[in-house]
Amino acid sequence: MLTSDTSVQYLKGVGEKRAALLARLGIHTVGDLIGHYPRQYEDWSAVVPIAEAPRGETCCVRGTALSAPVERRIRKGLSLYTFSVADATAVLRVTLFNNPYTAQKIKAGQAYLLFGTLTGGRNPEISSPLIEPAETGARIRPIYPLTAGLTSRYLEKITAAALLELDATLDRDLLPDTLRREQKLCTRRYALGNIHFPADREALETARRRLVFEELLLLQLGLLSIKGRSQAETAVRVHNDYTTDFCASLPFTLTGAQQRAVADCVADMRRAIPMNRLLQGDVGSGKTAVAACVAYTAIRNGWQCVMMAPTEILARQHQASLQRLFADKPNVRVGLLTGSLTKAQKNKVLEQVESGECQFLVGTHAVLSEAVQFAALGLVITDEQHRFGVRQRAALAAKGMHPHLLVMSATPIPRTLALMVYGDLDVSVLNELPPGRTPIETYAIDTAKRERAYGYVRKFLDEGRQAYVVCPLVEEGETDLVAAEAYARDLANGPFKGYTVGLLHGKMKTKDKEQVMRDFSEGRLSLLVSTTVVEVGVDVPNAVLMVIENAERFGLAQLHQLRGRVGRGKHASTCILISDAQNAEAIRRLKVMCETTDGFKIADADLQLRGPGDFFGDRQHGLPELRIADLLSDMELLHEAQAAARALHEADPSLEKPEHRLLREAVTALFTRTGEQGLN
Ligand code: ADP
Ligand code: MG
Repeated sequence: MLTSDTSVQYLKGVGEKRAALLARLGIHTVGDLIGHYPRQYEDWSAVVPIAEAPRGETCCVRGTALSAPVERRIRKGLSLYTFSVADATAVLRVTLFNNPYTAQKIKAGQAYLLFGTLTGGRNPEISSPLIEPAETGARIRPIYPLTAGLTSRYLEKITAAALLELDATLDRDLLPDTLRREQKLCTRRYALGNIHFPADREALETARRRLVFEELLLLQLGLLSIKGRSQAETAVRVHNDYTTDFCASLPFTLTGAQQRAVADCVADMRRAIPMNRLLQGDVGSGKTAVAACVAYTAIRNGWQCVMMAPTEILARQHQASLQRLFADKPNVRVGLLTGSLTKAQKNKVLEQVESGECQFLVGTHAVLSEAVQFAALGLVITDEQHRFGVRQRAALAAKGMHPHLLVMSATPIPRTLALMVYGDLDVSVLNELPPGRTPIETYAIDTAKRERAYGYVRKFLDEGRQAYVVCPLVEEGETDLVAAEAYARDLANGPFKGYTVGLLHGKMKTKDKEQVMRDFSEGRLSLLVSTTVVEVGVDVPNAVLMVIENAERFGLAQLHQLRGRVGRGKHASTCILISDAQNAEAIRRLKVMCETTDGFKIADADLQLRGPGDFFGDRQHGLPELRIADLLSDMELLHEAQAAARALHEADPSLEKPEHRLLREAVTALFTRTGEQGLN
C-alpha cells in the first residue's frame, strides 16, 4: 500500500521520466502530489445554450455532433478538422487544428461538452475547444500549475489515482476535532477530495476555506514556536538607560518616532526574556541612529553588540557611520568583519571581539561563523531583514547568551502583511522623517525625452551636485558586465563628456566597488552609473538626481528603494523614471511612484497590483511559500488562524498532546523544507 511518503514513481501512470518532471514542480511524494492544489478551475458544470453563450469569453456549451469531422489539408503539416454540433438553440461550427487525436473520437449523433471561446453572431464558431463526452464531462475541472512536458489533464489523472491509493489515510486529520468544529471547517477527506474534484462551487469554497485556514495555522504555529524558542530567560539584563547620555553628543535631536523606538527597545532589554523587535522605517528615517543609541545603552551596561548587513558595502558604511556617531565615545570600539579581510586583519578583529576590547562588531554574514567568539554578546542587530531568513535570525539568537535582537527593515510592508511575515516579532515603526528633508519630485518620461533629461542632469552637475543613473537591465545574450560597461562608456563619451563618470556593478571585486563608492561619496565622481547594487543603504547627501532606465522592469518596492538614494540632504532632489512601457500595470506602477513618496502607500499599492506572492521578489525572508492562501482575499481567515494558533500555543506550547501530534509534525515539516532553501 502506498503512503503519502511514498515516491510518486510508484503511482500508476508515473515513470522515471514523468517523476523527474514532477520533481520540478516540487512533487516528490504521493503526499506532495495531493498537496499540489489547482491554480484555477474550468467550470464545465455551468452549461449555456449556444445561442446565449457570451461571445469572446470562455464558457461551456453542450451539443450533438451533426457529422464526424472532415479533414482538410491546408498545406504541408497543417490539417484542419471541421464539424458542427447543435443544441436546441443553434448550430455551432467547430474547427480543430492539427488534432487528429481529438477529431477521431467525435462520432455523429453523440453529445459533447465543448469548452472554449465562441465567436460570430448568428453563425457561431469555436476554434480548438476542449471536448469531453457529455455524460461524464459536466463538472468543475482543476487546472494545475505546470511545467513543460506535463499537462493539467495528466496531473488530474494521477491525482485521482493518488487520492484512491491514500483513501485509508484521508481520515487522519491534523486539525483536532474540537478546533475543526469551532471553526466550522470540513474534514480533511472532504477538503482534499473537493479541492481537486469539486462536486460544485459551494463544495469547492468549503474545501478551500479549510485548506487556507490549515496553511495559515501551520505558518503561524511555526512562527510562534520560533519566537517561543527565543523566550528562554536571558542573562543579558540591561539595568541602566544611557539614551540621554548618547543623545547629548548627537549633532541632531531624535525625532519623536526615533525616541519612541529607542524607548521600546530599552524597555524590552530590561525584561527577563530577550527582545525580538522589528524596527521598520522608510529609507532615510534614521534607523541607524536608533540602533546606535540602543547599542550604546547595551554597551554601557557591559555587553557587546553585533550588526549584520546584507552586503559588504553596507557593512562598511555602517561601520563608518557608527564610528562617526561614537566619535566622542572613546570607550566604544566599532570593529569590522567581512569576507574580504586578510587573514591577519581577521584574526586581529576576532581577538578583540573575544577579549571584549571591541564592543561593537559590524559585518556581513561572516559574523555568523563559528570562529567568532564574543566575550559577552548582548545585542544582535540585523539590517535589511528581508534579506535574511527566519532561520538565520534564529541561528544568530542562539549564539551567545540569548542576546536581544533588533531587526531593521527599510521595506515598508503593509501592516497586515507584517503580521504574517513577522508574526514572531514586536514592531516599532519610524513613521516620521527627520526634519529639513525636501521631498523628492518624481517624473516618468519615455525614451524620446531622454536627451532632455540628460540636459537636466547636467544642469545640476554643473552646480556641483551629483547623480545616479541606474542602467538598463541586461538584454538576452549579453552579460551584465558588458552591458553596464558599454552603457557607461556611451554616457561618458556622449552626453556626459567632460564629467567624471564612475561605474558600479555586481561583478566587480569588493575592493573596486568600494573604491568607486568612496570616489562618489567624496565627490571625485559626479555621475555614478550603476546596476541595482546601489539599491540598499548607500548614503551620499550631495547626490540629488536618480535616473532609472527601464523603470517598468522594477517592482514598486525596488523603485522606492532606489529613489531613496536621493533626497538625503538639504538640496531638493528629483527622480526620473524612463520607460516606454505600454501595459496598464506598468503605467499604473510608475504613476504611483510619481504621486507619492510614502513607503507604506507604495507598499499597499504594490500589494494590490502584484499580489503578495511577488511581494518580496526573491523568497529570502525564509518563510514557506503559500500554496493556497491569498493574503489579499484571505485576510479574515489569517486573523482567525492567528487567534487559533495563539490559543493552541498557549494551551500546549510544544504541541505535545496526542491530539496535536499530526499538527506538530506538519509544522516541523513545513519549516524544515523552507530551512533548506532559506539558509545560504
Ligand atoms: P535609514 O537607515 O533609516 O535609511 P539613516 O539612519 O541612514 O536612515 O539616516 C539617514 C540620515 O539622516 C543620516 O545621514 C542620519 O545622520 C540623518 N538623521 C538620522 N536621524 C536624524 C534626526 N533625528 N535629525 C536629523 N538627521 C537625522
Ligand atoms: Mg540605513
